Amino acid sequence: MYARRTRRDTRGEAVEPDLDREARERAARRDEAVRAAVEQGLLGPDAAVAGLLDVTGIRASAAALRAAFDAVVPPGTPVLHAFAVKATPLVPVLRLLSEAGIGAEVASPGELALARAAGVPTARTVLDSPAKTPAELREALTLGIAVNADNPQELHRLDALVRSAPTRSPLGLRVNPQIGGGSIGATSTATETSKFGVALRDEGAREWVVRAYLDRPWLTRLHAHTGSQGIPPALLARGVAETYALAQEINERAGRRQIDTLDIGGGLPVNFAAEATAPSYAQYARLLAERVPGLFDGRYGLVTEFGRSLLAKHGTVVARVEYAKSAGGRRIAVTHAGVQVATRTVYAPGAWPLRIAAYDAKGRPKPGPEVVQDVAGPACFSGDLLAEGRALPLLEQGDYAAALDTGAYCFAHHYAYNSLVRPGIYGFAPDGSGGVAFAAVREPQTVAEVVAESGGAHADALTTLWAPGSR
Ligand SMILES: *Cc1c(COP(=O)(O)O)cnc(C)c1O
Repeated sequence: MYARRTRRDTRGEAVEPDLDREARERAARRDEAVRAAVEQGLLGPDAAVAGLLDVTGIRASAAALRAAFDAVVPPGTPVLHAFAVKATPLVPVLRLLSEAGIGAEVASPGELALARAAGVPTARTVLDSPAKTPAELREALTLGIAVNADNPQELHRLDALVRSAPTRSPLGLRVNPQIGGGSIGATSTATETSKFGVALRDEGAREWVVRAYLDRPWLTRLHAHTGSQGIPPALLARGVAETYALAQEINERAGRRQIDTLDIGGGLPVNFAAEATAPSYAQYARLLAERVPGLFDGRYGLVTEFGRSLLAKHGTVVARVEYAKSAGGRRIAVTHAGVQVATRTVYAPGAWPLRIAAYDAKGRPKPGPEVVQDVAGPACFSGDLLAEGRALPLLEQGDYAAALDTGAYCFAHHYAYNSLVRPGIYGFAPDGSGGVAFAAVREPQTVAEVVAESGGAHADALTTLWAPGSR
C-alpha cells in the first residue's frame, strides 16, 4: 500500500519532494538562531563557543522516523524506536524525544541514569552494552528493561538471574552477521572480527545460537546493529536480512514463535556533505520492506536504535573567531571550537569532515567571495583544525564559524584537552512572535568546576604520600 503512495522518478527511484524544502527550512532556522544567539548574548566576547539544538528539527525527525515505519508495518504492530543515547547524551534531548514517542537505547550505567532522569519509561528502554557487569544486569532485570546479551558468558549471567527472580525484561541475544565493514573502520560493527555480539559465521556459532534459544524459552528477542556512519543502507539491509533469516530458523526449530521481536539496530548514515537529509528514514524503511518483506508482515514486533541520523542535522556548534592571521600564504581563523567539541573530525578529518558556515560579528551569514583558509580550534597542537584549506567567505576577527551537523557525537561529547571548559548548549524554537527563544540544555562549565574535576580537592594528595627520607 505504501508503494502506491510513493512517487517515482524516471529511474524508478522514490522521490520525496519535501526533502528539499525541509533542508531549506532547516538552514533558515539555523541562520535565524545564530543571529538571535549573538543578539541575546549567548555568543559574544564572554561566550566564545556554544552548541545550538534545533527543537523544531528534532521533533520533525522523530515524527519522520515513526511515520516511515508506520507506513510499512500492519497497523497494531509493536514498534519501539529507542534512541541510542550515546549519540546525544543530554537529559532534555531524551525528554523531548520521549515526548515524541521515542525511547532510549542505553549502554552504560550513566546512560541508563540519563534516560531515567529524562523520564523515559523502562518499557521503552533497551540495554545493549558489550561489557555489562552483574550489578548492571540485575538492575536492568529488576526494572524490567529489555536486555540484549552480547556473548555466551553474559547469557550465563542472565541464566542465573532469571532463575533467581522473575523478570518482566524482554531478553535477547546480539549477533554479528559478519557482513563486512563500511568506509570507516571505527564504526563498522559487523566485520569478521568485530567485538560485538556472537559472530554468526564462525565455526559452530550458528548452531550454538539456535540451541541457546531452544534451551531458553525466555529468550524472545534477536538483536543486530550492523553498522553506523560509512555503511551503505544496502549493507545495513543485508545485516537485517541475515538476522531475520536466523529468527525464522530458530522459530521453525522451536516449532513456535519464540522470537517475537527483532531489534534491527540503528546506523543510518548521515549526509555530512550537504544540507539534505539523505538517505531518509522513509527510504530506508522502504528498502527494508523490499529486501526483507517478512520483517514487516506483522509476525514480529520491531525495535530500532537510531542515533546519529536523529540528531546530527539539528546541532550547530558556533565559535567566535578570536584572531585571523596568515602563515605561509594560508589564511587561518583561530576560533574557540576544535578538538574539544569535534574530536573525531580533528583526529580523523578524512572520515569525519564537517561543513563550516561563516557568520559576521552580528551573526549574519557572510557573503563571499570565498577564500581558501584553515578554521582552527583553540587547542595547543597544530592538528587542531575544524577544516583545512576550505574555501569560505573570509573569516575575520570577531566573526563566527559554525560547524554544521554536529548534533550527534560532537559537542555533547566534550573532550577535556587543554582543560577547555564544556560549552553551553541551548535549544532553540520560534518564540511565537517572529523571534527565536532559547532554553539552556546544559550550562557552560566554569573554570572552578574544571579545577574540582581535576583533583582540586586533593591538591596535596601526592606530596603527603610517604617519600624516602621523610620519616
Ligand atoms: C551506537 C549504537 C547505535 C546507534 O548508532 P547510530 O550510528 O548513531 O545510529 C545503535 N545500537 C547500538 C547497539 C549502538 O552501539
